[in-house]
Amino acid sequence: MTATEDLEQRIQSFPRQRTYLLPALHEVQEAYGWLPPDALEALGLHLRVPKSEVFGIASSFPDFLLSAPTRTERTCTGASCRVLGGPSHAEATADCLFVCGVGPASEVDGRLVGRGGLKSEVPTVTSGTLVQDGSCSRAVADTARAGGTHVGCAGNCWQAPALSHDGGSTWTSQNTAWTPPGERWLLHDVGRIDPYAPKLYAAFEKALSMGTDRVWELVRESGLRGRGGAYFPVGAKWETARNTAADKKFLLVNAEEGEPGIYKDRHLLEGDPHRVVEGILIAAFGIGATNVVIFVNGEARLSHERLLVAIEAARRAGNVYLPLEVRQGAGGYVLGEETALINAIHGLRAEPLARPPFPAVSGLQSSPTVINNVESLTNLPDIILNGADWFRSVGTQSTPGTKLVSLAGGVRQPGLHEVPLGTSLGTILDAYGGGATADLSAVLVGGPSGSILPTSLLETPFDVQALQSVGGILGAGGIVALTTQQCPVAAVRELVAYNSRESCGKCTPCREGTVRMLNLFEDIQHGRSSNETFSTLEDLNDILAFGSLCGLGQMAPNPVRALLRHFGPEVEAHKNGRCPAGVCA
Ligand code: SF4
Repeated sequence: MTATEDLEQRIQSFPRQRTYLLPALHEVQEAYGWLPPDALEALGLHLRVPKSEVFGIASSFPDFLLSAPTRTERTCTGASCRVLGGPSHAEATADCLFVCGVGPASEVDGRLVGRGGLKSEVPTVTSGTLVQDGSCSRAVADTARAGGTHVGCAGNCWQAPALSHDGGSTWTSQNTAWTPPGERWLLHDVGRIDPYAPKLYAAFEKALSMGTDRVWELVRESGLRGRGGAYFPVGAKWETARNTAADKKFLLVNAEEGEPGIYKDRHLLEGDPHRVVEGILIAAFGIGATNVVIFVNGEARLSHERLLVAIEAARRAGNVYLPLEVRQGAGGYVLGEETALINAIHGLRAEPLARPPFPAVSGLQSSPTVINNVESLTNLPDIILNGADWFRSVGTQSTPGTKLVSLAGGVRQPGLHEVPLGTSLGTILDAYGGGATADLSAVLVGGPSGSILPTSLLETPFDVQALQSVGGILGAGGIVALTTQQCPVAAVRELVAYNSRESCGKCTPCREGTVRMLNLFEDIQHGRSSNETFSTLEDLNDILAFGSLCGLGQMAPNPVRALLRHFGPEVEAHKNGRCPAGVCA
């Protein structure tokens, strides 16, 4: 078969509908390593999408390549990797490679490399020994080829590659031994079970026996709030879709997780994909959904592979009672916006829409669509089995349950930790993170839309309301500890730069405002700021917060406001041309 025939065959395997644009682009890039212009043209002709639009949409996703790759190395420029010493000699850079626990990270010829290239040997093991085998461990050792029983990473990325001889209670690696602290709900089986082995769906069976109304009531009574960042009550979102009359109703599972520094959903999908699938089936039943679409991050290849195996096993067991489709994304922080995600699945640019209507009323194919994220759904099996009171026994009154924290930066035990909501930031750093590696100057909480907090606020509970009271947000649960060798101004400048790159450009305040904000930060960093710089910055904060269409622009001022509120002396020093940490030129 010639190359042209091969291309034709690949493209024509897709139904002639625009919604297949993203999967078809993936197919072509998978085959050729990039998206050649003739492929884009052929694809547009087949899917009946103008080639200018095909090009525009492909170019709006960071993971699609419109020119043949000449560079084979990308080095992570995320905050946690920078704390750990990267980037240094990169030929090209990536915003986040999502293996923050083994940073500094890079990607060479499509393979993740952790700890700046330092490889570890996997000891020879006997059968019965558990071998941690997830994205982080594969980045630092050849765990895929190790003996023993392969399990997902228990969250102890800092130990990778780690082994357990007692069924996952204790983990050892070189000279370290670790027992996961506290009670683990979502991570209970992660690191204990073979993610490829079938699992019984006892909670789903119980849900079926309870009936759809009771499942919804129980979820509402539990007080579960969405864990994607907005913390909207899950039961209330379901209720809107349930009460909207329609022939079709969708559950759209957001497994995109495009926020730098966040790798919780990948851990769940790599370590216990069946719990995720069971949660999805329970939700679909409680909502009264007729269809499920799962949107997985395009770079989360191991998650995708293990999810597909779990779905197939669930199908064979007769548990998948409705049409369920898996789609892959191609990057983009803006996909955290529900309407942008829906647009991407429809084969349109990933741009948010004005609301109302909300997706729970009109979303995928203009049908009621509930969008829940992986972590939210993974809570459901235990809620069904143990009840609402059990769920409310942990966490805070307004936000019960546990939260997965992606912990990185200047701590001894970076990785994924499960903490009761309301645990103080200091306890998370010490009891879970093993303490700081050096004197800390600040913590970044909540990612690019979050805040920077001084160490004097480490007693603040990790909770939606408590963080709001100090100008922060919980977000998706990312915490990066900064040591005194990092500059808070430079750290916030990187968040501003990220928001500017990720702005979809649809509305002027965000498109222009984030760039202007970045220019001002460069002036501040390089001793060129004046009082006018800061008054313009304050104006921009207000304009973005009130004038932007979606959360990305509305929350872009959060880290800037937190910096101005909590780091007056450091900002003042920069105004006088001095960086106390010696980072800014
Ligand atoms: S706020 Fe930013 S990301 Fe959101 S729609 Fe406007 S330009 Fe796009």
